[in-house]
Amino acid sequence: MKFETEAIHAGEEPKLEGAGTGDVVVPIHLSSTFARREVTKPTCGYEYSRQGNPTREALETRLAALEGARWGLAFSSGMAAETTIGLSVLEPGDHVVAGDDLYGGTWRLFERVLAPHLGVSVSYVDATDPERVADALTERTKLVWLETPTNPLMRLCDIEAISSIARERGVLTAVDNTFVTPYFQRPLALGADVVVHSTSKYLNGHSDSIGGAVMLSDEELHKKLKFNQNAVGAILSPFDSYMVLRGTKTLAVRMREHEKNAMRVAEHLEGHPGVTRMYYPGLPSHPQHELATRQMFGFGGMLSFEIAGGLTEACAFLENLTLFALAESLGGVESLTELPALMTHASIPKEEREKVGVTDSLVRISVGIENGDDLIEDLDRAFASLS
Ligand SMILES: *Cc1c(COP(=O)(O)O)cnc(C)c1O
Repeated sequence: MKFETEAIHAGEEPKLEGAGTGDVVVPIHLSSTFARREVTKPTCGYEYSRQGNPTREALETRLAALEGARWGLAFSSGMAAETTIGLSVLEPGDHVVAGDDLYGGTWRLFERVLAPHLGVSVSYVDATDPERVADALTERTKLVWLETPTNPLMRLCDIEAISSIARERGVLTAVDNTFVTPYFQRPLALGADVVVHSTSKYLNGHSDSIGGAVMLSDEELHKKLKFNQNAVGAILSPFDSYMVLRGTKTLAVRMREHEKNAMRVAEHLEGHPGVTRMYYPGLPSHPQHELATRQMFGFGGMLSFEIAGGLTEACAFLENLTLFALAESLGGVESLTELPALMTHASIPKEEREKVGVTDSLVRISVGIENGDDLIEDLDRAFASLS
């Protein structure tokens, strides 16, 4: 089945046999516990909702189908998913190689939680060059952690090249696919071992649920992750599982619109006198446009740019927008904008973030699916109010 079809049907086929009721939409199974006939085994397969829940399982089947994985697991947040991966693949003394342009919360998890409490070390490298990843691998490296496109600089990592280098050394590759979703990029098909998502973003798509997901095809690792997810309790609620199931049904249509508007905004901003630098992989001027075309089926709805001036101009611009909400997060139907240096990436020390290019005048936009004319008009109005 093709993507659009899986996105609507996988995990949600109406049950017409036995005790089935023919629901076209999977019910929200709120029961925290499940009755059984015999002491020794659960009669209907379910025991307690932390271990397994029918609504969550429907979502997990859907998520696996979308990424072309054997298994999907739904977590209470993207960070809960990442934490569970860390606890499942890393032991004290282990080493991680991560890209140096990461979601701020991932950096915080590595540096403030996993490093001090699990005793692991993390090297941050410019993963746009697979050689740098190769050079950073040590005897103790267990995991390569990639985001592509990166956040917020929209740089790309070659998933196929890096996974193959890692695999040769017996190292797992995890890719955070939150930014472009499986509609535009399938890391597992390119050789990655694990895909991670914050479903709070495009997969749910309506900015009204926090959740996370892991998709993978390795049986051993799936077992370990599932065990640890239950052990730490990092599960998605039945209601949120329903929300994300519903969100995924329109993922394909939404992503096409996000991209259409993002391309339009990127082209408009690229020639704008108030903009000194554009970051969008769909623009032929993007230094990795060729890799983008090869690795992705589209370019997504996220972009960043440097505004002429500094922090003062950037703040004034953001505060002058009326349609674009000034807010963290991304991937909802509504357009959002933010200043990474003081918002999403504020937990990263100034020198660290400036080293990679997250300056005080860098503005990030999550382009929504409103009418493109209205978006351009709002941006132009905010620029005009600066002069
Ligand atoms: C939001 C986000 C996360 C964290 O997800 P939560 O659902 O907020 O916990 C991780 N990675 C990326 C790329 C994100 O955008």
